[in-house]
Amino acid sequence: MKAEALRLKIWITGAVQGVGFRPFIYRLAVETGLKGWVNNSPQGVKIEVEGSRPQLDQFLARIRDEKPLPAIIHDINVAYDAPVGFARFEIRESDDAGDKTAVMLPDLATCPDCLAEIFDPQNRRYRYPFTNCTHCGPRFSIIRALPYDRPNTSMAGFTMCEQCRAEYEDPTDRRFHAQPNACPVCGPRLALWDSRGNMLAEGDAALRQTAAVIQAGAVAAVKGLGGFHLMVDARSAEAVNKLRGRKRREEKPFAVMAPHLEWVKRACEVSEFEARILLSPQSPIVLLRRRREPDAMTLIAAEVAPGNPYLGIMLPYTPLHHLLLADLGFPVVATSGNLSDEPICTDEYDALERLAGLADVFLVHNRPIVRHVDDSIVQVVAQREMVLRRARGYAPLPLRSTELLPAALAVGAHLKNTVAVAVGHDIFVSQHIGDLETAPALEAFERVIGSFQQAYAFEPAMVACDAHPDYLSTQYARRAGLPVVTVQHHYAHVLACMAEHRLRPPVFGVSWDGTGYGQNGTVWGGEFLVVDDAAFTRAAHWRTFRLPGGEAAVREPRRSALGLLYALAGETAFSDPYAAVHAAFSPAELTVLRRLLERGVNAPLTSSVGRLFDAVAALAGLRARATYEGQAAMELEFALEGIQTDERYQFDLRPGEPMVVDWEPLVHELLEDVRRSVPAGMISARFHNALVEAIAAVAQAAQLEQIVLTGGCFQNRYLLERAIQRLGRAGFRPCWPQHFPPNDGSIALGQLIAAAREHSRE
Ligand code: ZN
Ligand code: ZN
Ligand code: FE
Repeated sequence: MKAEALRLKIWITGAVQGVGFRPFIYRLAVETGLKGWVNNSPQGVKIEVEGSRPQLDQFLARIRDEKPLPAIIHDINVAYDAPVGFARFEIRESDDAGDKTAVMLPDLATCPDCLAEIFDPQNRRYRYPFTNCTHCGPRFSIIRALPYDRPNTSMAGFTMCEQCRAEYEDPTDRRFHAQPNACPVCGPRLALWDSRGNMLAEGDAALRQTAAVIQAGAVAAVKGLGGFHLMVDARSAEAVNKLRGRKRREEKPFAVMAPHLEWVKRACEVSEFEARILLSPQSPIVLLRRRREPDAMTLIAAEVAPGNPYLGIMLPYTPLHHLLLADLGFPVVATSGNLSDEPICTDEYDALERLAGLADVFLVHNRPIVRHVDDSIVQVVAQREMVLRRARGYAPLPLRSTELLPAALAVGAHLKNTVAVAVGHDIFVSQHIGDLETAPALEAFERVIGSFQQAYAFEPAMVACDAHPDYLSTQYARRAGLPVVTVQHHYAHVLACMAEHRLRPPVFGVSWDGTGYGQNGTVWGGEFLVVDDAAFTRAAHWRTFRLPGGEAAVREPRRSALGLLYALAGETAFSDPYAAVHAAFSPAELTVLRRLLERGVNAPLTSSVGRLFDAVAALAGLRARATYEGQAAMELEFALEGIQTDERYQFDLRPGEPMVVDWEPLVHELLEDVRRSVPAGMISARFHNALVEAIAAVAQAAQLEQIVLTGGCFQNRYLLERAIQRLGRAGFRPCWPQHFPPNDGSIALGQLIAAAREHSRE
């Protein structure tokens, strides 16, 4: 008896476009002997197939088991229907109807097959820098609208040649429906320009000449995947210093692009896990510990990351980078093509203007970059990946919520800004935008919001923002003409981490960072929050001290030190016993700061642990002024390299609502250590250990098993790893940010959750 034919309708949602999903379905249907069709829709992938029940069951099971590696399936919904008698299986045109909830995929690093082709002289794509296939290549950086089809990308202007077209239409080919498919005949081309935009060379000659120019010590601006890099020979102190001078970047570490993994292993300690991250389709910058052997230290100029035991390293992730690095054979600094903290340049004509004076030559191409996407930064802490900057390779993959979310836009914080939108069950957090300090940054911020709204045809019903009234993001939210939800900064930090780990309240959140707007006129940053179903309570905080000059203290750890001393000793802080601290100031400066402290004018009170780190670094003689955010805290962490001790400074836990963690005994002991010339490393260890013990003490008092450790301070490996161990031993369950940054890069995520909580109560 012939089995009765059935028609099965299948809707698949998730990251299923641009990963060779339809070709995969095509092959599967043909192999299973099913007829029907598949297409992309704005919600995902739609399939209709006809066959017997066992055939259809097998087909469904194999979709889950054998899906293409980069694809992420959220849901498979099915419905049976009467057969209509399909004649064959086909891939149909995309349809454009309905809500746009399909997931935009991140850009993916060059796959091994494409890599083999560009280095094979017999291949028609030999040395072609825009080679890609359904397993790799640009996605997010070229998508203008959904669904993900060539006319909706910046490849729309390139007409495929006959050979590319044949690959594109052949379901058995790796390039079947590879939207950015291209070759030297029909695809984008390279050009090398001088600093005025005059053409120096084209095509492969442009690439070879760029290598020669970098080899000779010049600065090259290179248009890559999500923006421009500035590149110089990373072995040459002179070249690196030239770049530092032009970029006005004194000491902040530069990222390095290494020719291959073997080189990385010579310069740095690389665990198997770290190697896997380096080689992953995400291909982020990984912070790796430098090898201390003299021959390893000479592989790269000290000026790349002065005084830093770590290097930020990535491997080539586009064919262009692979070819360039292969021609060079040595590592290059590959830093964002921008001026200090502005967003990365994406357009070659804009680059000529904005990078004028920075770069000697411009290696450009004619494939437009639709949106800026920076390199992501990752470190491995406590044997887990921790994303510090979430952009290329990671954004904008959504975080899936079990609850249906209100249509909300969250505009993030001020530094390391990202934005987030909620669409149905999905939270989309944008790529890293940057510090909203400059006009170009604010433009990028508004562009990203616009492009999210366009891509997902999304209209927010409310806007969530920080409680700080002066943040440009907050002001944007107020202008939007929508209901506004203001979210306390440290609460947002904890909510973001809870969302990532799907934690249910109550949760005890340790939320430590540099600055965040508090609720009582003080600057928060050393907070212990209990988060319940509805809101948070401040269970404890570090004792406050004044920051003379307010924001200026961020750049000058010596100011935090003086404020701390003043809180400790009052007027005595300006007398002889503290002469060593005064040495960091001129007499005139000291007079001004003293007046600020005494009058309490432009000297806000803060509970910030970030500023406490600054104060300790300054008191320990490590750093009086910082040239970039977090420098003093990092140097204090680095100072304890190689020191193993359980010794720690004392602190007091003062009861109350909230409780206060008092640093007074800690500072007394620390000053005594300084007087006795105890090495900074030992001071640092005792300080770090005291912080960990403070977390344990407040956790004991709060009596909640589930703990979240978050905020910029927990980028500190020693602090985080030791806190995890200490809390684990005491029977707590510590969690920390991994897929989203512990820093302000995930404030937008937390704000969105807060808005959803607010909404569900109405
Ligand atoms: Zn490929
Ligand atoms: Zn072609
Ligand atoms: Fe923060």
